[in-house]
Amino acid sequence: MRVTWTGTSLTFRLDAEDEITGKASDEHPIKLAINSCSIGGVPADAHPDLFAVAAWTVVAPWTRKRISFDRAISAELADALHSGWGVEAGPVGAEPRRPGARLAISYSGGADSVAAATVYPQAPFVHFRRVPHPRVPNRWSHYRSDVLAKLAAQTGRELSTVTSDLEFTLAEPRPGYPEHHAVAAGALLLADQLDLGGLGFGYELGSRWLGGGRYLWRYTPDNPMWSPHGRWGRLFAAAGVHIVLPVGGVSEATTMRLALGSDLKDYVRWCLRGTDGPCRTCGKCLYKELIQAAVERRPLDTPITADRPVAQKYLKKPPYGGQEMIQYGFARVPGIENTLFAKALDYFDVSEESTAWLDHCYPRALAEIPAQWREEATAFVEKHVGLMTEDEVRRVETWGA
Ligand SMILES: [Zn+2]
Repeated sequence: MRVTWTGTSLTFRLDAEDEITGKASDEHPIKLAINSCSIGGVPADAHPDLFAVAAWTVVAPWTRKRISFDRAISAELADALHSGWGVEAGPVGAEPRRPGARLAISYSGGADSVAAATVYPQAPFVHFRRVPHPRVPNRWSHYRSDVLAKLAAQTGRELSTVTSDLEFTLAEPRPGYPEHHAVAAGALLLADQLDLGGLGFGYELGSRWLGGGRYLWRYTPDNPMWSPHGRWGRLFAAAGVHIVLPVGGVSEATTMRLALGSDLKDYVRWCLRGTDGPCRTCGKCLYKELIQAAVERRPLDTPITADRPVAQKYLKKPPYGGQEMIQYGFARVPGIENTLFAKALDYFDVSEESTAWLDHCYPRALAEIPAQWREEATAFVEKHVGLMTEDEVRRVETWGA
C-alpha cells in the first residue's frame, strides 16, 4: 500500500498483494469503492504520525504486507503497525509525537456520545460530518449529516466540525467507516492544533466489554478496537492521542439516562434519517425506544408493528445485537408482552434484579482511562451512577460464557 497526502486529500495505491475486499477489525466483510478521499476543516500541517494513523483508519482493511507513507513516521508508530497488523511500515525517521494536554470528545450527538461529553463538561467536541464524494454517486441522501452538524453547533461547546467523504471509499455493505476509528481521522489531524493527548469516544459497556454490535457476544477484555492494550489502542497511543472511553463501563440504559438528564438533552439524536426528530420507523429507533421506555418506566411508544421488516429479527431466536439491553427492556417496560417483542420474550427469563448490573459501572473501565483524566470520570461515576458490586462484576465477566 502506498499512501499520498496532497494537503488533506488522501490517495492510496494498492500493491500486488493487497485486495479490494477485506474485513474491518470487527470482522465485518467490506469492499473497496474508490482510492481517494479528503478531509476538510483540519490544518494541512501536523505530526507525520497523525497523518499516518488517519490514513491507516481508511486503508487497514486492504493492506496485507507493507505500507509506504509519503513522509517519515516514528519508529514507535512503525512498531505499533507491525505488532498490531504484521505490516512493514515506513519510511522511519521522525521523532515520536509528544501527547498533548487536552482531551476532546468525538461527538456524534447520539446518547452514548452525549453521555461521554457529560463526564467532561470542559472538553471540546470534534464532530465528523459526512459530505458527498466528487466521484461517487450519493444514493444515501436520506442520511442527514447536516442535521447532526447543526445540532452539534447548538450545544455551546467548543466545536470543530470535520467534513469528509471517506465513508464513500466503501462500496459494500454501504458507505461507512472502513474501520470504526476512521471517525477520528479529522480529530487526529487536529490533534496538534488542539493540543490533544486523548480522544473520548461514546463506546459503552456493550461495545467495549460484552462483544456487542455485530460480531461476538462474549466478554472481551482484549477487544482489539477499544482496549488500551489492543492494536488500535497502542497505535493511537504511539501517535500521542490516547483512546479514552468515558462511558466504557456503563450500559446503554445508563448512557440514555445520563444523556436525557444532561443540559445537552435537547441536542441528542441517534437517528440519521429524520429532520425534525428521530424517524421512529428504523431499527435503531426501535432499539433506542425500548431502552428509553425502560429508563422512563413507561409503555413502548412505537408505530412499528411485528410485520415490519425491522421487527423481523425479534421474531427469530436470539442472540440479538445489544442483547443485554433487550433483556433490560423486557424486565422493565410495562406491557411489553403486548408488543412486537412478545415472541422474543419467550426466550428470556429476566427480572429487574437479574438485570440491575446494567445500572452500574464496571470498575475496570475506569482503571483503563489514562491517569490524567481518570479522577474526573471516577468522581462523575460515583456521583451519578455507582460502581458494580463483586457479584455484578461477575455478570460482566461471565457474559456469553
Ligand atoms: Zn430512525
